[in-house]
Amino acid sequence: MSEYRIPFNKPAIIGKELDYVAQSVLSGHISGDGTFSKRCQRFLSERFGAEQVLMTTSCTAALELAAHLCDLDPGDEVVMPSYTFVSTANAFALRGARIVFVDIRPDTLNMDETLLEGVVTDRTRAIVPVHYAGVACEMDTINDIARKCGALVVEDAAQGVNAKYRDAYLGTIGDLGTYSFHETKNFICGEGGAFLTNNRSFHDRAEIIRQKGTNRSQFLRGQVDKYTWMEVGSSYAPADMLCAFLYAQLENMEEITGKRRNIYDRYLTLLTPLADRGLLTLPTIPRHCQSNYHMFYILLADLETRTNLIDHLKRNGILAVFHYVPLHTSPVGKNMGYREGMLPVTESLSERLLRLPMYYGLGEEDIVQVTDCVAEFFGVS
Ligand SMILES: *Cc1c(COP(=O)(O)O)cnc(C)c1O
Repeated sequence: MSEYRIPFNKPAIIGKELDYVAQSVLSGHISGDGTFSKRCQRFLSERFGAEQVLMTTSCTAALELAAHLCDLDPGDEVVMPSYTFVSTANAFALRGARIVFVDIRPDTLNMDETLLEGVVTDRTRAIVPVHYAGVACEMDTINDIARKCGALVVEDAAQGVNAKYRDAYLGTIGDLGTYSFHETKNFICGEGGAFLTNNRSFHDRAEIIRQKGTNRSQFLRGQVDKYTWMEVGSSYAPADMLCAFLYAQLENMEEITGKRRNIYDRYLTLLTPLADRGLLTLPTIPRHCQSNYHMFYILLADLETRTNLIDHLKRNGILAVFHYVPLHTSPVGKNMGYREGMLPVTESLSERLLRLPMYYGLGEEDIVQVTDCVAEFFGVS
């Protein structure tokens, strides 16, 4: 599959994925909201404490559903980090919102909550914390500020499935939450996601918008005798076969998380001598946050060092990658009036961050090879 001895990501089958996919196909219901979709929803709802969970075709789709529920008018503002995946911004830009980018914290690379008071206005309708790398944003502060200015909190927990802020699971702490099950995330089905909320006032409309704007879900439960067009909506329910694959991954949630935790800890241990010499910076997890170990990244001194290290790893058959091009300096961001220099922490970190290979099947020998190769680059052995 990969030209690399150690690729960046490798999707893995952990348990009964293929068996469940076969069961789903043979059940005769392979479209949305079949047996396995319902099993996934129940699992996520019970495990994470979310009153409503709706499976979606992606986290992008779940974000679009959430943005739709925010009922944005032209000129309404939505606050989010610039250091995120494009889907976070697209979902709200598609609803006509003005996107207000805020800088990130240098320790967790999450939205800097201390800057929020300075950017919210009476037009702020939503604040969108992105839990980077599966480490929580400062949700207490973010929820307080949102409540004060009457904004909704939409958590982009694409990377935060099975991670916690204090006692609560990410995705259940704001008004609306979204998960990703894309093959690059912790629990996967190729392309998939979920929308969740504990706010009852959104339940009916969330179902309707997800089902092409119809009350088909109520019809299927026998609550109405025909279904019809209730409001403008879209089609966000995934095929049941994908949920069948996902359900097997969810059943092995602790196994997967434990494995990733072990990889994270080994990287941390093996790279600490390099960090102690000031050659790189290691990631940190605040004490009150429980990570799901989605990612292992390092921060280098500058862009040139990062580029050279990527090349060095490549020559040794190892693929390490970087992201994100900040949204505020992208062509779309510039059209919105943003310029380089406006979000200095985002701009600096996005040039210096490097993600090391991280996947279920990454073995101890692989981890040692990667860290040896990084040490060799710095002339340390
Ligand atoms: C992966 C990701 C998404 C998009 O998820 P999809 O399921 O691929 O649509 C959105 N936001 C963040 C922060 C992500 O990491």
